[in-house]
Amino acid sequence: MEAGDFKDFAKAMTDYIAEYLENIRDRQVVPSVKPGYLRPLVPEQAPQQPEPWTAVMADIERVVMSGVTHWHSPRFHAYFPTANSYPAIVADMLSGAIACIGFTWIASPACTELEVVMLDWLGQMLGLPEQFLARSGGEAGGVIQGTASEATLVALLGAKARIMQQVKEQHPEWTDTEILSKLVAYCNKQAHSSVERAGLLGGVKMRSLKPDNKRRLRGDILQEAMDEDINKGLIPFYVVATLGTTSSCTFDALDEIGDVCMSRNVWLHVDAAYAGSAFICPEYRYLMKGVEKADSFNFNPHKWMLVNFDCSAMWLKQPRWIVDAFNVDPLYLKHDQQGSAPDYRHWQIPLGRRFRALKLWFVLRLYGVENLQKHIRKHIALAHLFEKLCSSDDRFEIVEEVTMGLVCFRLKGSNEINEELLRRINGRGKIHLVPSKIDDVYFLRLAICSRFSEESDIHISWEEVKISADEILALK
Ligand code: PLP
Repeated sequence: MEAGDFKDFAKAMTDYIAEYLENIRDRQVVPSVKPGYLRPLVPEQAPQQPEPWTAVMADIERVVMSGVTHWHSPRFHAYFPTANSYPAIVADMLSGAIACIGFTWIASPACTELEVVMLDWLGQMLGLPEQFLARSGGEAGGVIQGTASEATLVALLGAKARIMQQVKEQHPEWTDTEILSKLVAYCNKQAHSSVERAGLLGGVKMRSLKPDNKRRLRGDILQEAMDEDINKGLIPFYVVATLGTTSSCTFDALDEIGDVCMSRNVWLHVDAAYAGSAFICPEYRYLMKGVEKADSFNFNPHKWMLVNFDCSAMWLKQPRWIVDAFNVDPLYLKHDQQGSAPDYRHWQIPLGRRFRALKLWFVLRLYGVENLQKHIRKHIALAHLFEKLCSSDDRFEIVEEVTMGLVCFRLKGSNEINEELLRRINGRGKIHLVPSKIDDVYFLRLAICSRFSEESDIHISWEEVKISADEILALK
């Protein structure tokens, strides 16, 4: 493809994208295709001769859109949001054009340096303590990981490197295998599945602790578990505190957990994958009280801060534990400026990395902090609107306090009736929700996901819930 065709293709695609997003509300939120729908729609083999771009454009609706779940539709209420905005889309175009692999500073200085500065901007927006920021002048700083799951694993590996070194100093006679078999990490039973997975991948025990009756991991619960393990000769070394659990968006008692971790020299990682974006609004920062006691902090601008996937922001007070843990230094990756700027290859699992800071830069500049705050506040207000509608119908109950853009609710009654409710709601195809279950109580989760959502959309979603409830209760 030559530049002339590229310009035409890109212009046509830009028009298509704007049209798609602005009218997304009118599409069926989940497609009605069956597995295997796509193969018959495309040839068996790749074409030998080039096709015109217009042929590709002509196939987008037929082949792709017919099988797309529209995550950005105001009718989509499943999981947690994933972000989408025009500035981030344009930034990804530029990133695709530069197409550098920024594994070291010299591999593309702008790629590294913009990331360092953007993570400082973002850290200040969240009110993170200076000890996390590169501008503090020490070794601390931020990095863009692909996902929160990677951040949890990377932090675990850093914590593991730190404890291994400390224990070896105290017990030079112990082998690595002996030490490893004693290590134990902790999280809330309600932590995301990626935390359990980090334990598996890191080859250490991960204990999921039963939270209090508000689904929060508390300091005393953690302390008791650690004492129990220490008495068994085990070595607590890593804790993940979740701010905004996936099932019901509750917040671990970070301040209390921080005290326990600090008193025992245990690495504390904060997973605020979804809810972290809300900390750009000062009124929600009470939920991260104690953050200064953490060693690492992560949240996903790609969830709720209008930066398209993938952009998971992680800060480390002492990145040296990760940098040293992952340091393999072949000659072909060395450069003369080593040590004067981060070489991000040491801060992550893969070697390669895209120029992701561009989309943060574009979004922060083209929205400004104030509009991002408005976005968060609007979503939370819409969640409260749904909560109000639901609470005003005495057939329903709200299962968890609504603090962010998620409402957990159910029909009063059995799990079966609620399973049937969800089947009917999703079966009608107008809106899409997923369920969750805590302590054997099955409930529905309604997340505000789309940046296009308005109050009128919430009323439509509530009507959809009510129609299905009416049907079920009429059968009883
Ligand atoms: N942690 C929490 C609390 C989450 O809610 C999620 C996903 O929803 C994750 C981690 C995983 O996020 P990622 O897909 O970025 O790994």
